[in-house]
Amino acid sequence: MISHVLPTYNRAPIAFEKGEGAWAIATDGSRYLDLGSGIAVNVLGHANPDLVAALTEQAGRIWHVSNLYQIPQQERLADLLVEHTFADTAFITNSGTEAAELAIKMVRKYWHDQGQDRIEILTFEGAFHGRSTGAIAASGAEKMVKGFGPLMPGFRTLPWGDLDALKATISDRTAAVMLEPVQGEGGIRPLPDADLREIRALCDQHGALLVLDEVQCGMGRTGRLFAHEYAGIAPDIMMVAKGIGGGFPLGAVLATEKAAAGMVAGTHGSTYGGNPLACAVGARVMEIVATDAFLAEVNRKAALFRQKLEGLVAAHPNVFEAVRGQGLMLGLKCKVAPTDVVKAGYAQHLLTVPAADNTLRLLPPLNITDDEIAEAVSRLDRAAASLA
Ligand SMILES: *Cc1c(COP(=O)(O)O)cnc(C)c1O
Repeated sequence: MISHVLPTYNRAPIAFEKGEGAWAIATDGSRYLDLGSGIAVNVLGHANPDLVAALTEQAGRIWHVSNLYQIPQQERLADLLVEHTFADTAFITNSGTEAAELAIKMVRKYWHDQGQDRIEILTFEGAFHGRSTGAIAASGAEKMVKGFGPLMPGFRTLPWGDLDALKATISDRTAAVMLEPVQGEGGIRPLPDADLREIRALCDQHGALLVLDEVQCGMGRTGRLFAHEYAGIAPDIMMVAKGIGGGFPLGAVLATEKAAAGMVAGTHGSTYGGNPLACAVGARVMEIVATDAFLAEVNRKAALFRQKLEGLVAAHPNVFEAVRGQGLMLGLKCKVAPTDVVKAGYAQHLLTVPAADNTLRLLPPLNITDDEIAEAVSRLDRAAASLA
């Protein structure tokens, strides 16, 4: 008999009832060190007092109105996003998938309004943009699209990081190039800064829009507020979600005035998107994360974590192959199935997340302490030893 919860996930037999910072406490009272953060979501850990205060203060006033009215909390969040990024404007969504859908619509509308027949969006293998019909078409991955055809047309998938393939494909008919600066689900695969600069230049040369999906790698995860800042370039459109709500469902599409020009009243909407409750939390997350001092700490901890992980890889050459990633978006390329390492981690009361390309993801809260990093590595060490 089918479970009452639609069984689209292979769930671990653990349930959590409480959280404190980097720790998730299970229903049996045992404490798990959380290097998953609900998949790069809980950037400030569990039950962060500042976020709890922002949420409960707003919860006692008003939760939801409608985008039929002015929403000061949404304006505040948009102001912060514009102040700290390339963007001139932001649309607030409830998730990354919805952000991807709007990004695709924005690209199409842009070219429509230019009177040009440019519908092809170039994407890369290993990409993940969500599970909607549009987002799975954008990814093209067999695993996600099988059985869900016919796929939405207008996408062409190129080999990951293959700039020669991009050069051979991009043309004055290309609508946009869409990619994650650091692939998350694809296996913590950062694109070199020089490649991102070259992609920007190719887009400029052909007049194509550059759409960056920073749903997983954004919001301080890599040590900059957004990962593309390392390359010194800016996209035309960017999707944000996961970390932006610190655990509350929230996402955004950021865009330049030019790229967003077609999105006039009536062209897009959302019932929940940008409601006062979500935006009060999102604005608080931005106030904390988008500061030089916070990001400097992310970088310091990332260097410490990475150094310890290099030691771990050296100590377990039969389990691990290499450390990859940027900032606190870290991956361990494995020689065994990453799902086995995740399971061995559960036995050590450690939460990690598998990804494609045989990679284990380590996505701790960005405010994890030095002691917790040391504890995480010793638990990973015991988990690896149990597999040897
Ligand atoms: C998780 C993710 C999404 C989808 O976000 P949801 O909030 O799950 O809809 C899109 N793009 C990237 C890069 C992601 O990691």
